Amino acid sequence: MTTSKESLTTAGECASHDQDLLASCVHCGFCLEVCPTYKLTGDENNSPRGRLRLWREEAEGRLAQDPWTDFYTSECVGCLACESACPANVPYGTIFEQVKHEHVAAKRSRPPLVLRLAALLAARPALFNLALWPARLLRRTGLLTHRFLFAGRPAVVQSTADYAKQLMERHRPTGPRVAFLTGCLMEALFREINFATIRVLIENNVQVVIPPEQGCCGAFQEHTGLDGVQALQARNRQAFDLSEVQAVVSNSSGCGLALGKALAGRLPVRDVLSFLGEIGPVRRPRRDGAARVYVDLPCHLIHGQKMAGIPASVLDATGYQWELAPQARDCCGSGGVYNIQKPENSREILARKSAFLNEAKGDPVILATSNHVCMMQWNSARSGGLVHRPYRVQHVIQLLDPGEDLTVHKTASPGGK
Ligand code: SF4
Ligand code: SF4
Repeated sequence: MTTSKESLTTAGECASHDQDLLASCVHCGFCLEVCPTYKLTGDENNSPRGRLRLWREEAEGRLAQDPWTDFYTSECVGCLACESACPANVPYGTIFEQVKHEHVAAKRSRPPLVLRLAALLAARPALFNLALWPARLLRRTGLLTHRFLFAGRPAVVQSTADYAKQLMERHRPTGPRVAFLTGCLMEALFREINFATIRVLIENNVQVVIPPEQGCCGAFQEHTGLDGVQALQARNRQAFDLSEVQAVVSNSSGCGLALGKALAGRLPVRDVLSFLGEIGPVRRPRRDGAARVYVDLPCHLIHGQKMAGIPASVLDATGYQWELAPQARDCCGSGGVYNIQKPENSREILARKSAFLNEAKGDPVILATSNHVCMMQWNSARSGGLVHRPYRVQHVIQLLDPGEDLTVHKTASPGGK
């Protein structure tokens, strides 16, 4: 392995990583107890400290390339909990992305065909949308009843951009102006969440702009180690080269994290719930006797974007009785594409985390989070037989959704002023 320092400024295309960064680990072990794969196996090599040591030994020529190093690299979920726990600020996520890319480039690992195809499609949003149309159709007809069973029935042919434009013309909000990242999977499969996000923003008097040239955030390529991150970042830098907006908002913590890297130093990328927390969102009436909500915190929100969580003011504004899920700060095992690459580990991590739902108070119960991949993972706890009672998985923004009859609250502004 080579040692170019610049290579770590944008992980993805350059086939080298920085020995100084690898050497920044002081071996304290504070990261071990937060690492899901270490907790699963008790194996030091399956911990952040162990992986960093393997990569460093190899980079410094003391360890030959070894299938075990490849194996332990592939075991990492990419949850970034170790970054939050690390007193030495080791940039584990950046190093991990770089190593993964090197392993794929050197054919030491090969993502499954389905992921390679999906990565190709993700770089072409129109094609991606078309390719997932059958899944949407099956969902609408009720034939696909497990992984994508979320509320809402958006018009198949109406894009989020069309929808936002219509709502903007009808309601004419006058408050802060933001751009919105529609995403590829969000737009293709979870468009009702995009629609709900647009309604909530406009109800809160936020002006929404949707740049038409935007594309995939690059998270998919980062998760798989495949090429293409830099091209996607360049495209989004061009698409979001906007002076009239104060931020880009995203309703997926993973996509927001990836786009934030592309737009670093240009435009802030904000999680929509944290943005609403600053505004002080319109409150829904109290829903006494309604569902009880358990809130889970996506890793890419709290460890990736370094947010404290989902603002309590936003959760209170849903009107539901809510509480944090037990182990809310632990990984659910989805890890972007980890549930496809390492289904057994992923299921075991989810089993530990989701067990509480079997006994959780409330009827009905909602599991609410703010990342679509986590939503799919939580949904699989029931379809995969880990949870035996009914529950609904929703994005927190859906709990704030005013529906089509929204009224714009023109007093809303950032900071509630
Ligand atoms: S990213 Fe998560 S799974 Fe990987 S080493 Fe860090 S804590 Fe463990
Ligand atoms: S917490 Fe940081 S410095 Fe300590 S062992 Fe883990 S990665 Fe290394």
